[in-house]
Amino acid sequence: MSHKSSQNAAASLSNELDMSAYWMPFTANRQFKANPRVLVEAQGMHYTAMDGRKVLDGVAGLWCVNAGHGRREIAEAVERQLLTMDYATAFQIGHPGAFELAARIARIAPVGLDRVFFANSGSEAVESALKIALAYHHARGQAQRTRFVGREKGYHGCNFGGMSVGGLVNNRRAFGALLPYVDYLPHTLDTKRNAFTKGQPEHGAELADALEGIIALHGADTIAGVIVEPMSGSAGVILPPKGYLERLRAICDRHGLLLIFDEVITGFGRMGAAFASQALGVVPDIFTVAKGITNGAIPMGAAIAKREIHDAIMQGPEHVIELFHGYTYSGHPVACAAGLATLDIYESEGLFERAAALAPVWEEAVHSLKGEPHVIDIRNTGIVAGVELEPRADGAGKRAFEVYQDCFANGVLVRQGGEIIALSPPLIVTESQIGEIVDALRAALRRVA
Ligand code: PMP
Repeated sequence: MSHKSSQNAAASLSNELDMSAYWMPFTANRQFKANPRVLVEAQGMHYTAMDGRKVLDGVAGLWCVNAGHGRREIAEAVERQLLTMDYATAFQIGHPGAFELAARIARIAPVGLDRVFFANSGSEAVESALKIALAYHHARGQAQRTRFVGREKGYHGCNFGGMSVGGLVNNRRAFGALLPYVDYLPHTLDTKRNAFTKGQPEHGAELADALEGIIALHGADTIAGVIVEPMSGSAGVILPPKGYLERLRAICDRHGLLLIFDEVITGFGRMGAAFASQALGVVPDIFTVAKGITNGAIPMGAAIAKREIHDAIMQGPEHVIELFHGYTYSGHPVACAAGLATLDIYESEGLFERAAALAPVWEEAVHSLKGEPHVIDIRNTGIVAGVELEPRADGAGKRAFEVYQDCFANGVLVRQGGEIIALSPPLIVTESQIGEIVDALRAALRRVA
């Protein structure tokens, strides 16, 4: 679409929709309303924009629609559940779907992590995981273990706990003092030594040893746990260097710290296995999921813990209710129905295996962008990739945002954060659609001077 006709389309959209009341999340609101992008339908690999154009979904909505859009099985399960029982509290009462979904997740989780606490988003899953870690130490008579260790560039949602252990400066800047007692590991992005690595980079395992320094400073017996994304998504698809997570695991074990993986993006097949811990061969003590748990159709998240963590809290000394934590919508019947239907699809269509099988094609396609204008690094694993651009002197992320806009105007949705274009299409993506996504990005890079 030409610049002129996209401006006309934007003007007519503004006439059709009153956009003034809606305060959009993580959006440049003023800029958006001058040049809006509005979607009205989604089916399979495509959105339809309000002006009728088809847009190929190169990011699975927001890293969540792993089985593709408009899945009838999920819609029917949701409708059935709404008409059978729309809502029931999860406090002191159960319903079958929550037990079934927890059991199904436990079955595909790493061995030993089989206790599932439901929340309604990735952010809530993270808060739940952090509180479970604290409650675990408390139950074992180590209530002084209240510190957490996060990591630079980490994203763990935008509630106070997750924001505090997170390491993205833009997400923290306006919000003053956060949780006290958090330290940060250095991030592992190294575009000098590891540029254009396919899969896990070679260099940087030693960065995990910074945890020993933090432990030496505060004393292990003050630290509850360490939280990292096994692959950082929001910061631009940053893979752990070979051996890095193994080192974190060993240090945590040595000092009694819980290792928490935030698998909100990596969960449910993105890396070619059900969970990143399986793809990477390192098992955490607690992990979080959301997004792909319901194929993005209904909000849901979960924190999944080792049985012994759960059991320690169950045996805690003080209360009849073991964990004073939960949400009105924890284990919502409709979300559970969506989750069960989603897992059925993942299983019957073998989508995690499909992602693993397609990964080499994906890798070759995304790395064909090496040498295109402005590209300083490409990172990939499973069906996910980050293409990092050289920053322009006039402002962080502006070039990448122009690339994002150009891709959208030409029918492909990608994700932009800072200088990075992230790609993570639904796992049903075909080889030719991979070509379309990469070609649209290539054309955008060439157009954006
Ligand atoms: N953790 C990670 C690793 C994420 O990527 C995200 C969202 N992208 C979240 C937590 C927060 O999830 P939500 O937006 O559902 O609260």
